[in-house]
Amino acid sequence: MHTVRPNDLHIEDACVVGGASGYLTIDLGALSRNYELLAGMAAPGKAAAVVKADAYGLGAERVSRTLYARGCRHFFVAQFIEATRLRPALSHDARIFVLNGLQPGNEDVCAYENIVPVINSMDQWRNWNRTARRLGRQLPAVVQFDTGMSRLGLPPEERPLLDEALAHGSDVDILFMMSHLASADDGDSAQNGEQLEEFRKIATEYPGYDLSFANSGGLFLGAPYRGTLARPGIALYGGSLSGARNPTEAVVRLDVAIVQTRTVPGGTKVGYGGAHVTTRETRLATIAAGYADGLPRSLSDRGAVYFDGVRLPIVGRVSMDSITIDVSALPESAIGLGSLVEVIGPNRTLDDIAEEAGTISYEILTQLGNRYHRQYR
Ligand SMILES: *Cc1c(COP(=O)(O)O)cnc(C)c1O
Repeated sequence: MHTVRPNDLHIEDACVVGGASGYLTIDLGALSRNYELLAGMAAPGKAAAVVKADAYGLGAERVSRTLYARGCRHFFVAQFIEATRLRPALSHDARIFVLNGLQPGNEDVCAYENIVPVINSMDQWRNWNRTARRLGRQLPAVVQFDTGMSRLGLPPEERPLLDEALAHGSDVDILFMMSHLASADDGDSAQNGEQLEEFRKIATEYPGYDLSFANSGGLFLGAPYRGTLARPGIALYGGSLSGARNPTEAVVRLDVAIVQTRTVPGGTKVGYGGAHVTTRETRLATIAAGYADGLPRSLSDRGAVYFDGVRLPIVGRVSMDSITIDVSALPESAIGLGSLVEVIGPNRTLDDIAEEAGTISYEILTQLGNRYHRQYR
């Protein structure tokens, strides 16, 4: 397995494996420790892993198998296609849940592939129940309730229909009831308490079922939010929920190669639109990643990368395939063609980048491109 080349490497030796533009390093040890930490917080309940969007861009198969080895048995994806892709990678006793629910036409594959739909509407309930009847066996499901997000799940007015269906006896085996928090990343939001109250009401209406409520943020809101199965996503991957309260470890590191360096006098335009003009003699380097590699254009003239702990500001606009940085703070001999700079790492966290780009860590992670050499540690 390849490791990230040290920054003090001889320049002529530097080249990225497979002609890639940089190294995206995913620390499976840190991922495992994050899972154990979150599972500890979820106790006595269990902790699932949310691995939708290819495990937030980090590789659903690798991530899921790693967490399975740590005892995780509940995996949530968003789309049905993600479930069918992930199914062969996990043993039969791992449950795969589809958050976006059951689309008409997917019922049979869902049943045969041992995938569990999250039932979000009574239409979906009826289709699943009919499939169970036709196949002559009970089929598992999770029922999701909308407690105030207006996105997915049974709205309050559909509950009487569920009552009726349950009263008539059904062929759907409800594994647990769930709902999702809209503002869990903000511990001060009144919406958290409102949703908790509504979910408790539902739990009273349908006694005896296991309950799943907390995403990463929910786990940090305290015991009442935890339920019997927590569903952390971003905290597994080292993304922050609300600044300082995040005790998880970084999982991702991104190092990108320099493809050219130059020294320009003051008054020189840099990049598209000449949006940046140097104010003095400046040493520039161009790195091999841009917005097509998941580094948002909103980082233009704002963000920075690091080399050996030295901050190197982004100058000019972020291009599709490259970014120009000011490397004047480094001795001229320190870097050159092929050197690697730290784009995400100990000096520039995922959350730093997200904040500078005016977005959230989720979006940065899920957009990281496929032109990097991915390595798992
Ligand atoms: C994405 C998602 C999660 C995970 O959320 P994080 O904030 O990443 O922990 C949990 N539950 C549902 C329903 C989701 O859509």
